[in-house]
Amino acid sequence: MKQIVVVGAGYAGISFLHTVLPHIPEDVQITVLDRLPCHTIKPEYYALASGSLNERKVKAPFPVHERVTYIQDEIQELRIFNHEVVCANQTVKFDQLIFALGCVDNHFNVPWADEYTESIQTFGKAMKTRQKIDALHEEGHVVIIGGGLSGVEFASDLREQHPKLQITMLERSGQVLPTLPERVRNYVRQYLDDHHVDVMTDISVVMIDDKQVYYGTERKALPYDVCVWTAGIMPHPLSNSLLAYSNADRMNRVTVKENYELPYYHNIFVIGDCAASEFAPSAQLAHIQGLQLGEYFLTRWYETEYKPAPIKLKGVLGYLGKKTGFGLVNDNVLLGKVPNVIKSGVLWMHKHHMG
Ligand SMILES: Cc1cc2nc3c(=O)[nH]c(=O)nc-3n(C[C@H](O)[C@H](O)[C@H](O)COP(=O)(O)OP(=O)(O)OC[C@H]3O[C@@H](n4cnc5c(N)ncnc54)[C@H](O)[C@@H]3O)c2cc1C
Repeated sequence: MKQIVVVGAGYAGISFLHTVLPHIPEDVQITVLDRLPCHTIKPEYYALASGSLNERKVKAPFPVHERVTYIQDEIQELRIFNHEVVCANQTVKFDQLIFALGCVDNHFNVPWADEYTESIQTFGKAMKTRQKIDALHEEGHVVIIGGGLSGVEFASDLREQHPKLQITMLERSGQVLPTLPERVRNYVRQYLDDHHVDVMTDISVVMIDDKQVYYGTERKALPYDVCVWTAGIMPHPLSNSLLAYSNADRMNRVTVKENYELPYYHNIFVIGDCAASEFAPSAQLAHIQGLQLGEYFLTRWYETEYKPAPIKLKGVLGYLGKKTGFGLVNDNVLLGKVPNVIKSGVLWMHKHHMG
């Protein structure tokens, strides 16, 4: 039996699995390792943290297949020479490894950011953030560091859930959502202003302790009750060991060949937020990479030609609370109810197709 081990059953891993599932040959066994017992919809983690979504809503069951085994465990190390994945409770051998562990927060070496800020980057951390917010008095102060997509979605949803909370967003550049067109940025900024989210731009955070965020060259102090970091991501640290057989792109993602294999080591494949790409990491990109890798495996098993289509992404969609939103789809700006409805539809389809 050939052992394929998939580490990470998020957007990329589950998309690979769905692509190969109906066609797994008799001599292939697939083992999927994840710390969670199900697939989760990561783009909705902000709503777990704000309290607007029940945790059941972000979970989708793993697909069942006689030659697929799921192991719930914490992955701790890759032993590449030994072809082993070391987990907290067991070691799993592989013939082929698919690395899809996603990303973690990047604190950019800001002292104690790791210790004192909350996160919406994993299911467990988003739930912990929610507990901290639920424990606040109703006029407590939540500071959100980072005015990108997840920071904006979190701030607006938090406002809907907790009308009296004081919410401050700190953004390093001159505007929220710096990578989106001006019309979108202005619309979102107006929404945040109207909903009393205090947005501070051109703010460079230099240190965080247990009570205050310090910013700027003068180290001004901003007191907080809960501080949530949404300011940056980096590839999962376990991907660093793969860089010995590859190169890093400017985001430290692992460069791969057209078939997602490491350039200098056979039978290890990287997809999702850890894989280098001309595009920024996203669920959409991870899904396509998982699909293409699945197609590659099918061509190997059934001796056909692998011809991946060039990747085209549709754009970005964001929520502003439960009724409105923003987006840039095929270069068209969308504002108001429509992007909110489209995004809900996309996430609903993903959840029900992947479950
Ligand atoms: C709040 C938020 C909002 C977002 N909104 C959008 C959006 O609107 N559109 C969009 O395209 N993208 C969005 N993203 C980004 C998107 O979710 C990711 O790009 C996508 O999930 C990456 O897929 P992946 O398979 O690489 O990683 P993931 O989907 O994160 O999957 C990684 C898997 O690995 C598992 N794992 C990680 N470490 C370990 C370990 N040590 N042991 C065991 N298991 C482990 C995790 O449990 C997880 O199942 C958002 C992200 C966040 C946090």
